[in-house]
Amino acid sequence: MEYPELAADLAEVKAAIAKAQAEGEHAARTVRLLAVSKTVEAPKVAACWQLGVDGLGENRVQELLSKKAQLPPAAKWHLIGHLQTNKARQIIGEVELIHSLESLRLAEELEKRAAAAGLTVHCLLEVNVAGEESKFGLAPAEVWDLAAEIAQDMPHIALDGLMTVAPNAPAAEVRPVFAELRELRDEIRRKAEKFALNRLNMQELSMGMSNDYKIAVEEGATIVRVGSRIFGGRVYR
Ligand SMILES: *Cc1c(COP(=O)(O)O)cnc(C)c1O
Repeated sequence: MEYPELAADLAEVKAAIAKAQAEGEHAARTVRLLAVSKTVEAPKVAACWQLGVDGLGENRVQELLSKKAQLPPAAKWHLIGHLQTNKARQIIGEVELIHSLESLRLAEELEKRAAAAGLTVHCLLEVNVAGEESKFGLAPAEVWDLAAEIAQDMPHIALDGLMTVAPNAPAAEVRPVFAELRELRDEIRRKAEKFALNRLNMQELSMGMSNDYKIAVEEGATIVRVGSRIFGGRVYR
């Protein structure tokens, strides 16, 4: 094994997820583990995929496509970072899920490109729950309008749920952020039912990173995005 620590680190993360699932009052029955592979060299990412994760997360389109070409075709890719409208065309058909849909303009572009390709693109709406200036994402109060508009008018976008990046803060501050995202999803599900928006069937909550994935699982995450805890610290070039 070329990456001696990878298997042990991955096993530890999986065990911690299982423990949080067992203990968390709001924990989901199924939690998918994404290994966030940004800045990690392709052979190491391939080793991780082989050890068994549910998907690989990248936050840049170019890096995702270049690594995707170097891994087995069965690998499942997720775009977790900000997507520029002018890159939407390149990502259609390349990923299992886009976690970072956060504007009407981007939704319209994805709809147009997916329609042209004859595909459905699966997305999460990114929510800036804590209202941090430095972060992308919709304000919680904006989520319903965009979700409803997509469900009504954009047949090539499937909205699978919500995503957030929590503040880099102690657990006591992070937990309510995750709880709020869960409550927002539940509220949207109730409204969708009330207004018979059958296409709006949000199940997923993508939340939790290396520092806070255990709390996120306890609060109902269905997808966690873990990078440095699996691969070690990142080296940006
Ligand atoms: C980098 C990144 C992660 C993983 O971060 P770690 O702290 O290394 O686990 C998760 N989500 C997003 C959106 C990221 O950009």
